[in-house]
Amino acid sequence: MRDSFLLFAPPLIGDEEIAEVVDTLRSGWLTSGPKTERFEREFAEFVDAPAALAVNSCTAALHLALLTSGIGKGDEVITTPMTFAASVNVIEHVGARPVLVDVEPDTLNIDPRRIEEAITERTRAILPVHYAGHPADLDAIQRIADVRSLVVVEDAAHALCAGYRGRDIGSGHNLAAFSFYATKNLTTGEGGMLTGPPELLERARVLSLHGMNRDAWHRYDETGTWFYEIQQPGFKYNMTEIQASLGLHQLARIGPFQQRRREVVQRYDEAFAGLEEIETPTTRDGIAHAHHLYVLRLLPCAPVDRNAFVDELRARNIGTSVHFIPIHLHPYYRDKYGWQPQDFPVAFANYQRIVSIPLNPTLSDEDVDDVIEAVHGVLDAHRE
Ligand SMILES: *Cc1c(COP(=O)(O)O)cnc(C)c1O
Repeated sequence: MRDSFLLFAPPLIGDEEIAEVVDTLRSGWLTSGPKTERFEREFAEFVDAPAALAVNSCTAALHLALLTSGIGKGDEVITTPMTFAASVNVIEHVGARPVLVDVEPDTLNIDPRRIEEAITERTRAILPVHYAGHPADLDAIQRIADVRSLVVVEDAAHALCAGYRGRDIGSGHNLAAFSFYATKNLTTGEGGMLTGPPELLERARVLSLHGMNRDAWHRYDETGTWFYEIQQPGFKYNMTEIQASLGLHQLARIGPFQQRRREVVQRYDEAFAGLEEIETPTTRDGIAHAHHLYVLRLLPCAPVDRNAFVDELRARNIGTSVHFIPIHLHPYYRDKYGWQPQDFPVAFANYQRIVSIPLNPTLSDEDVDDVIEAVHGVLDAHRE
C-alpha cells in the first residue's frame, strides 16, 4: 500500500506559470489588462472560437451567457441533473426555472430523446453539460432547439480539448462556458472563459465589469480617460492578470497534459477491463473525449457499495470524488420543485454507484499502479 495520500486532482503548475505571475506582480498592473486580452485571443484560437471573454469563474460565464441570451423571469431552461450545482444555480440567479431532463445511461449526458417532452411554451434554452469531458449529443440537441427557436448554452467546464463530430467544443455559434477551477484540465486557480458569437460576447463583456462601456477597460492606461458610463447594473466578473498569467502557460502546455490524461485512461481501461464488478467509462464514435474525469461504476454484483468503496480506497491512501450528487437531491431544489429521487431514475441509480478516481497529469506511473492496485485490493478483500 502507498504510504502517502494520493490527492484526487492537484494542479500541475510549472516554473513558467510561477515566473509569469511574478512578472505580473512586478509589472504594476494586476487587474484585467494585456495578459488577459492575450489569454482570450490564444484561447479563442486554440478552441477555434469566434470570440472569447475571460471571467473569474465558469459560473460567471454561465450567468452572463443566460443574461445575454435574454433569459429571465418566467422562462424555463432545460438542463441535466448530473452536474455541479453552478449549472443550475445560474438559472435561479436570472429568475428562470430549471427543468431537469434525465441522462443517457451510457454517457450520463442529458438524454436528447427526453428533451422534447420537457418543453413548454415557457422554454427558452437548453443547457447541456459535457459530463466528464464526453460531449453531449449536440446535433440531436440542436435539432430540437432549432425547431423551437431555443438557445443552447453549453456548460463546457469539463470539455476543454473535447470535440464533437470534428468540431472543437467552444468553436460553434453557441455560447460555451469553460472552467479554470483548481481541479479542471486547465487552471488559473479560479477562472473561466465564455466563447461564442462576438456580438453576444461584447454584451457579456459590458456586464462582466459593472456594466461600464467598453472603453472603461482602458481608462487607466495612457490612452484612457477618467470618463465612463454605466449602461446597466453589471457584475464584477472580470479576470485578473494574475489568473491570466497562469492561464497562458497552462494553455501552452495543454497538449502534454492531455497526452498524460490519455495514457492514464488507457492504463485504467486495460487494468479494469477484466473486472466483472466494475463498469469503465464509455466513449462514443465521432467524439473526442477531454478526459476530465474517470468515473468508475460499481455493478450490482459488486461485493461492496459505493460509500464503502470510497472509504476503503481512502484507507488505502487513494483520494476519490463523486460527480455528482444529482441536482434534484439537494434540499433547495428538492423542496422548491418537489422533486423525488425517482423523478430522474437514471441519474439517481447512477449516483449510487459512481466514483471518480484520480485522473490528472501529475500522476506518475507508480501513482497509477497504486490506484489500480487499490481498486483490485478493495474488491479482492470483499471476495475472500
Ligand atoms: C466546475 C464546474 C462548474 C463551475 O466552475 P467554476 O469555474 O468553479 O465556476 C460548472 N459546471 C460544472 C459541470 C463543473 O464541473
